[in-house]
Amino acid sequence: KVRVRFAPSPTGGLHLGGVRTVLFNYLFARQQGGDFVLRIEDTDQTRYVEGAEQYIIECLNWCGIIPDEGPDFGGEYGPYRQSERKALYRQYAEQLVADGYAYYAFDTPEDLDKKRSELPNFQYGHAHRQEMRNSISLSEEEVKQLLAGGVPHVIRIKVPQNETVSFDDMIRQEVSFETSLVDDKVLLKADGMPTYHLAVVVDDYLMKITHAFRGEEWLPSAPVHILLWKYLGWEDSMPKWAHLPLILKPDGHGKLSKRDGARLGFPVYAMNWIDPQTNELTQGFREMGFLPEAFVNLLAMLGWNDGTDQELFSMEELIEKFSIDRVNKSGAKFDFEKAQWYNAEWIKKIEGQKLKEKVLEVFGANNIQIADERKLSVVIDLVKDRCTLLTDFISQAGYFFENPRVYDFSSVSPKWTAEKASFFVAYSEILNAITDHSPTNLEVAFKSLAEEKSLKVGDVMLPFRIMLVGGKFGPAVFEIASIIGKEESILRIRKGLD
Ligand code: GLU
Repeated sequence: KVRVRFAPSPTGGLHLGGVRTVLFNYLFARQQGGDFVLRIEDTDQTRYVEGAEQYIIECLNWCGIIPDEGPDFGGEYGPYRQSERKALYRQYAEQLVADGYAYYAFDTPEDLDKKRSELPNFQYGHAHRQEMRNSISLSEEEVKQLLAGGVPHVIRIKVPQNETVSFDDMIRQEVSFETSLVDDKVLLKADGMPTYHLAVVVDDYLMKITHAFRGEEWLPSAPVHILLWKYLGWEDSMPKWAHLPLILKPDGHGKLSKRDGARLGFPVYAMNWIDPQTNELTQGFREMGFLPEAFVNLLAMLGWNDGTDQELFSMEELIEKFSIDRVNKSGAKFDFEKAQWYNAEWIKKIEGQKLKEKVLEVFGANNIQIADERKLSVVIDLVKDRCTLLTDFISQAGYFFENPRVYDFSSVSPKWTAEKASFFVAYSEILNAITDHSPTNLEVAFKSLAEEKSLKVGDVMLPFRIMLVGGKFGPAVFEIASIIGKEESILRIRKGLD
């Protein structure tokens, strides 16, 4: 049975690339009728950030991705937080030492610093192993004593010299590494915690992971992992790897970073993230007004397509059509204009009730009270083609429910006159008197009154619009007046005349 995992380290908010990794894992699992496991890789306690795990889960939830197994989701292979599995890893590290594939190293941080200052390109590996304090350079007796004396030590993998490690990546086909370039990574730390390298291999094995999708930035770690699979005698169970292409800056130069978002004014995280240490806010797609459907869609298209011109895909369609063969090897440039296009399309496409719920959330957050939800549905249908982000509904639809918050008279020309003022007084009276407030009726009355008063319709139409909506935007003005209703239209005209 296909089993995939998303294995984030809870070190902060989720970057676009991270969510895309989740998504591809998830699409593949669902398509293959497999399991999708969430595993929290929190063995590096110096990088652990409070709140990051909840953030990750909330983010998956927002995207509509619910793990089959994971912390708080249950499953037969738990616990799913590596810190809760601590006791499990040492035996594998010891086994590697016993089999000659790993060794104890007793170097203190000072020893290592000294070495690094002497040799700027120092790598702990075959070239320098002998010069360090470890179970390769020391006698068996010395090692025994050090261990018995409880001297702090780590366990390092013994990377062989001059070998080629190769594996078949589902996206890049054959990938090879020269082991001479790989250092003897720490597997078990002095505090007994495994490092990522040991934990990821042990857990992928114990959790029976069959396919591992992860970002390309993990490619350099792959040879260490491949060696561990081999040295632990598990080679036949090794998952198939897929290293996903990077998401690049808009100009294609390098990996998209958190700073690019702040610099260029677009979000790079799924949801807002406030760093608990610095209080720094990194903006998220959710709060900026993206629909999860659009976010998922645009992420899928960063590095994948179905071979046709189709660009809009629902999650269900993605599950059906996703294929690893069609994932690009090269990085995908992030284009915020295009991202917004996806959102605008999804605002038009999504089911009415769902859109209404999202608009209600945005309105709630902005203190726009909705008494009549039926009216809201009518309004949403009327203005949704004008909205790119959900937050655009504040300006495009908010005035149907409250007075405009700002008035922009800058475009009203030629200037305001006593004739125009008297026109609006008269029009208010007509509005008050007529019983049928259909847009056509309101328009006919407006136009004949203008004619009667020898005013150009255009000269009074724009002020009317501004009185109702606050600016030069929105759908047909009589449509608006009809929805707002007689009393409210009269009130707004009065306010405009003040
Ligand atoms: N814990 C790693 C991360 O934070 C997981 C890498 C992997 O999937 O192997 O991305």
